[in-house]
Amino acid sequence: MNMDEKLHFADLSRRTDLTDRLLDWYAQSARELPWRIGPTDRARGVTADPYRVWLAEIMLQQTTVPHATRYYLAFTERWPTIEDLAAARDEDVMAAWAGLGYYARARNLLKCAREVSARGSWPTTEGELRGLPGIGPYTAGAVAALAFGRRAAAVDGNVDRVFARLMALTGDWKAEKVRLKRVVEGLVPEDRPAEFAEALMDLGATICTPKSPNCLICPIGDLCAARLEGAPERYPVKPKKKAKPVRFGHVYVLFGAGRTVLTERRPDQGLLGGMLGLPTSPWSGEFGLPEFPCEANWLEVGEVRHVFTHFALTLKVWRADSAKTAFETTRSQAVDGLPSVFAKGLKLASG
Ligand code: SF4
Repeated sequence: MNMDEKLHFADLSRRTDLTDRLLDWYAQSARELPWRIGPTDRARGVTADPYRVWLAEIMLQQTTVPHATRYYLAFTERWPTIEDLAAARDEDVMAAWAGLGYYARARNLLKCAREVSARGSWPTTEGELRGLPGIGPYTAGAVAALAFGRRAAAVDGNVDRVFARLMALTGDWKAEKVRLKRVVEGLVPEDRPAEFAEALMDLGATICTPKSPNCLICPIGDLCAARLEGAPERYPVKPKKKAKPVRFGHVYVLFGAGRTVLTERRPDQGLLGGMLGLPTSPWSGEFGLPEFPCEANWLEVGEVRHVFTHFALTLKVWRADSAKTAFETTRSQAVDGLPSVFAKGLKLASG
């Protein structure tokens, strides 16, 4: 592709046929998702419930639709409105969130629900939504567009990928993201911002996928610079990630009478703050010696690994039995309520 062609494709903000084609494709191919209003209902003027849109978008950050759907359905059955969620006990919400990861989001979820419930209604603009706990630019854009019909762009990793390919962006990724966001904002149609946002989400999730984009059936394929170049999967061109530091430690699984297990509530601040946990040693650059929470017949049963945002963790798992003491938490409560790293340790110790 020569420079003129590349510039031509880069000038997407003038390509209104891209918006029209995306909307036509969406009308035929929209995914059915439990938090979504379908294109037919939208055409009849039905609007999405901001509580449900917000809840789904927070859950969908960093996880897949099938995984988030299970949690979404459980949350909306137990807490059908934002007022219900605002009135929930912290520990119930944290336990219900267990397994979704990124637990600061669950704490912010509650803060946000309480703030909105206290003020009596949701703010409706992107700017005001950004002022709520845990709501970043993407979620604010998504809620403003999907629930309030505002002309707002919802640009997440999927949309970044689609536009990095459409425009064949090769410059500094941080700067290119700013540039492509401006382009997307310029393309949002005044009258159908929700469908436009959902069309882009669906295109990124079902056709313009990270490893094998299906350009042959892409509704905007002939506008795409990366497709013309012949290797769309090379986009987006991002700087290489640094290897994560590794930490080590010990985790202690003490089974008690009546199918119970010793657990502890983690401090509110810090990693996995406020979540149910198993007793552990501090996590550091080496395993060190185990310091058991009590005297018992401790037996090392193996290791579990877990990757957090900023580091990878390897824990040696120890188990013991305390036949005379019944602890507060049953094993089935622990299976449901422990974050993944501890659930892995419990599973190994139970096996
Ligand atoms: S043509 Fe291919 S690379 Fe370009 S937007 Fe469509 S699916 Fe993505």
